[in-house]
Amino acid sequence: MSKVIPIVIASIASMLSFQASAQVELKGNFTQGSLIRAKVQPGTLVYLNDAPIDVNAEGQFAFGFAREAELEQLLKLVYPDGLTELKPLNLAKREYKIQKVNGISKKIMKPDPTALSRSAQDSKQVKAARTQFTESNAFSQTFIWPLTGRISGVYGSQRVYNGKPGTPHYGVDVAAKTGTIVVAPADGIISLSVSDMFYSGGTMIIDHGYGVSSSFLHLSKLYVKEGQEVKQGDKVAEVGATGRATGPHLDWRVNWYQMRLDPTTIVPSMKSVLEKQAAN
Ligand SMILES: [Zn+2]
Repeated sequence: MSKVIPIVIASIASMLSFQASAQVELKGNFTQGSLIRAKVQPGTLVYLNDAPIDVNAEGQFAFGFAREAELEQLLKLVYPDGLTELKPLNLAKREYKIQKVNGISKKIMKPDPTALSRSAQDSKQVKAARTQFTESNAFSQTFIWPLTGRISGVYGSQRVYNGKPGTPHYGVDVAAKTGTIVVAPADGIISLSVSDMFYSGGTMIIDHGYGVSSSFLHLSKLYVKEGQEVKQGDKVAEVGATGRATGPHLDWRVNWYQMRLDPTTIVPSMKSVLEKQAAN
């Protein structure tokens, strides 16, 4: 008789944990490169592929899937009552724009030592800003475009030079004239504001909390300093072509800590926003 009891308990527990799945709300696209915002019962412990994720007092949290993320991901939720739920997440594979560029001379291919050392220093600063953890709950807001206009570059695209793959493009580029206003896509704290980085020129990072940040590259003017708080829609900078840019545009990036994500996964399509603007 006593041998039967543990089996009965286990089957009740699995039924309950199955019902508990209604307790997790996941908002986002289940594709590579996406940022997911989620909500659980406060006090729940959350793990993505066994790594713990910070959850705020309201039960909100965020996580991302990298450009080449594995298509099978596993979310583990340990509810306050001790029940554990395993929630497999199946991602859609994305096709990225790949452009082959051949016949480039060896001289151009060779990296310049000054550029290398300056960009290494810049990367360290950027990495430090994206490592920070802040308590802000702004990450869970509905984001807006920092600027509207023609999209001139997309996330994930890559050039292959003489057969050698270059670094993929991790931002969304919006073409605009130098001096066009850039606004904060959500509330946050400025975690980096530098006017002259080697590749990215005028560079700003807004920390939206819980590892979620926005970066803006090639800016001509930066209105806010590090440590300053901003609200969604606040004017923070002006578009430029500073650093290594071929023309004026805003390069907007979204990160979850060091993970580079596609900003277009958290805002309405540019087409729909521009149509709305035209109708008003
Ligand atoms: Zn760009």
